[in-house]
Amino acid sequence: MPNVAIIGLGRMGHGMAARYLDAGFDVTVWNRSKAKADDLIARGARWAASPKDAAAGADAAIAMVADDEASRTVWLGADGAAASMKPGTLAIECSTLSHRHVLDLARELRSRGLIYIDCPVAGLPQAAAAGKLTLLVGADPADLQKAKPYLAPLCTAIRHFGAAGTGTVFKLINNLMGAVQIASLAEGVAMAERAGLDMKLVAEALATGAVASPQVIRHSRRMIERDFSGASFTAALRHKDAAYAVALAEQLLPGVPVSRAALAAYDAAKTHAPDDDEGRIIEIVSRPK
Ligand code: NAP
Repeated sequence: MPNVAIIGLGRMGHGMAARYLDAGFDVTVWNRSKAKADDLIARGARWAASPKDAAAGADAAIAMVADDEASRTVWLGADGAAASMKPGTLAIECSTLSHRHVLDLARELRSRGLIYIDCPVAGLPQAAAAGKLTLLVGADPADLQKAKPYLAPLCTAIRHFGAAGTGTVFKLINNLMGAVQIASLAEGVAMAERAGLDMKLVAEALATGAVASPQVIRHSRRMIERDFSGASFTAALRHKDAAYAVALAEQLLPGVPVSRAALAAYDAAKTHAPDDDEGRIIEIVSRPK
């Protein structure tokens, strides 16, 4: 059986690890806090004491952690996965990270003989748990061919943008545009409330009109009802992605005032409720000034 190490068992990584168990892989798991692994261990996953221990003997190591700092620690730290991986092993990084970090990490892991797959994902935690993610890949085509059997349990689509780093470029653009849409939606919903409009009608009109992107459809009803239950993407993660994306824009397209405004909006949302659903930005926007 192919042997995979899953490093990071947060909202996304936990569901991804379960997919490999479902698919019959030998699965080793590590997370900074062990409790999130308990049910996976009960289902047959092996617990590792460190990322280094998890990746020793694995055919592929897959990381799904919060940010650059976490990624650096789990791959390159003293107990990081790279310390034990054999040359030729797949290093698949699924976290959403800065472009600069991804290029540095790819160079560093390749210098150790590892195969680097830049593999951020699109889809919420329910999609991760159901194997219905879209993978946004940057990799050498031959490397991607080798990785495909290890990516299959996670996804219904693989979009290959080019060399390592290009998957991350697209992911950051995508999530920056998402930040703009959601921040703008919060202002629109708050204005409609202040105007005394029938908010049921507003929800229906938003969800079926010309601005009805999947983001607007998902968040408009949740914002109007102030119901942020269910699987979510947090304000802290949205802010992190927007900050990484604006840093990338500084190299590609300096200025981007609309994107910078969305970043500032998510800076406030992160201060308000960092670990709750990003849609709670409506609570700040609708506050009396
Ligand atoms: P999450 O639930 O907050 O989990 C974050 C994970 O990172 C946890 O395993 C956490 O460990 C670990 N971590 C944080 N700091 C660490 C450090 N310094 N060292 C080691 N591990 C550390 O986040 P998530 O929603 O699963 O998101 C994970 C990644 O996927 C992020 O890059 C996010 O942007 C991306 N993503 C998320 C979604 C979504 O809808 N949630 C969708 C697409 C992409 P602990 O459990 O010990 O805290």
